[in-house]
Amino acid sequence: MMDVVVIGGGPAGMTAALRAGDLGAKTVLVTRDEFGGMAANDGPVPVRTLAHAARLLRDARNLDRYGIIAGEPMLDYKRLLGRVREVVQEVRAHSTFSAQLKDAGVVVNEQCGVARFTDAHTIETKSGLRLRSDKFVICTGGVSRRLSVPGAELTVTHSDAWGLTEVPSSMIVIGGGATGAQVASVFNAFGSRIMLFHSGARIVPTEDEEVSAAVSAAFRDSGIEVRENFGVVDSFEKTVDGVRMLFSKDGGREQAEATFAVVAIGWAANTACLNLDRASVETDARQFVRVDEFLRTSTPHVFAAGDVTGRMMLVPQAIQQGFVAATNAVRGATMRVLEGAAPIGSFTDPEYAQVGLTETQARAAGDVVVAKVCLDSTTRTIIDGRTSGFCKLIVDRETRQILGCHVVGERAVELTQVAAVAMAGRMRVDDLAQVPLSFPTYAGVLGRVAAKAARRLNLQLDWQAGELEGQ
Ligand SMILES: Cc1cc2nc3c(=O)[nH]c(=O)nc-3n(C[C@H](O)[C@H](O)[C@H](O)COP(=O)(O)OP(=O)(O)OC[C@H]3O[C@@H](n4cnc5c(N)ncnc54)[C@H](O)[C@@H]3O)c2cc1C
Repeated sequence: MMDVVVIGGGPAGMTAALRAGDLGAKTVLVTRDEFGGMAANDGPVPVRTLAHAARLLRDARNLDRYGIIAGEPMLDYKRLLGRVREVVQEVRAHSTFSAQLKDAGVVVNEQCGVARFTDAHTIETKSGLRLRSDKFVICTGGVSRRLSVPGAELTVTHSDAWGLTEVPSSMIVIGGGATGAQVASVFNAFGSRIMLFHSGARIVPTEDEEVSAAVSAAFRDSGIEVRENFGVVDSFEKTVDGVRMLFSKDGGREQAEATFAVVAIGWAANTACLNLDRASVETDARQFVRVDEFLRTSTPHVFAAGDVTGRMMLVPQAIQQGFVAATNAVRGATMRVLEGAAPIGSFTDPEYAQVGLTETQARAAGDVVVAKVCLDSTTRTIIDGRTSGFCKLIVDRETRQILGCHVVGERAVELTQVAAVAMAGRMRVDDLAQVPLSFPTYAGVLGRVAAKAARRLNLQLDWQAGELEGQ
């Protein structure tokens, strides 16, 4: 009998197993495929590598602006995929998790196929492993949602898109959320003709409205055909060299054709194979495992962490939840998941990122001041020729604390990390304005936008770091 069995070897599962082992519990980790989960094998690491290649292509096309004479860059997609594999392996090899798990005495079983409950204290894996345990932590992540319309089997998901052996001449992307926007941006840079269909009024809908508008405009400028409010998909048909999507809106029928149709309409929980009913573990309507504030499921000795809970589906949150779930599994339910500044960003071109409340959310919640600086007026972006986009700061009028930061443009994701640290440290906006951030840097825009907000609040600054604002 084990103390803790962790199911799933992604960021949540690895952390949960390590924490349980560190706390002295007899722990086993079982995972269907390779160690690392989606983060290492199918999500951020490979995607970021492709996005980096897209960025290099863009930069190579701009070399002549800086007097560097080079020919038109050409993409060898097979070699790029080789590089992606290399990166994935290198990241995995340098992950300290394997060694740490070994040191903590955790037994790791990779490539065991799906695990399923046979009763509330027993699981069996496809490979034939049978484990009984006092506690369980479910960390099986999520899967891409699929459309259920005729011909849906002709569509692919982001995973298939990364696995293509050559760049398709055209691509329909259905869904303008983070994953769809990423697929569209990367393959647009690689030369595919992209049609991005989004059912709602604005793409990247969880971002600030101004961010959505800016990303949408930039996508259109770069040649992506963006169709917001496109209607509903009726069906797909095979064509000689690809696929046809039939869709309708307000009684009218339309169609679009491309080499591939990629569906990126969201994320569902990966719980179908787990036989959760055998352990009386409840799920919600989208099959995400229901958990309380201690990440305890409806069966008190079974916990869940990461994407499978349907909360914020990101690596840092999966890691944090894995830690909390394992702590509670071993020590009893005492630790809650931290709520705090959580930066989110995407490596599209242009990048966009956020932390905290959007302007609409903040205005609905109270009295705020909003300041914005456009990147066509900051020194570093001018030097680098990356002048599109903006940085927006939302500040509470009374406490002067930063409630939100939203950025579109070069290095947006890195920039919001700085804002997140300021928010986590509960800095007042006038304090941020007086930090001597280096010049000329991308992060320097934060000092400038903070100074702008401080001035709107009639706050006296002893001095203002970095670039001057409002001269
Ligand atoms: C295209 C894309 C880009 C992304 N980019 C980012 C990003 O830039 N930054 C970021 O923070 N996040 C990003 N994410 C999200 C991130 O990858 C996930 O939030 C994270 O991987 C969740 O970790 P997890 O441990 O919960 O699940 P996963 O990483 O999905 O791991 C689940 C594990 O469970 C195993 N498993 C599943 N079912 C079973 C079973 N029945 N039995 C045994 N094992 C099982 C799987 O093999 C896998 O190892 C991205 C996701 C996608 C799809």
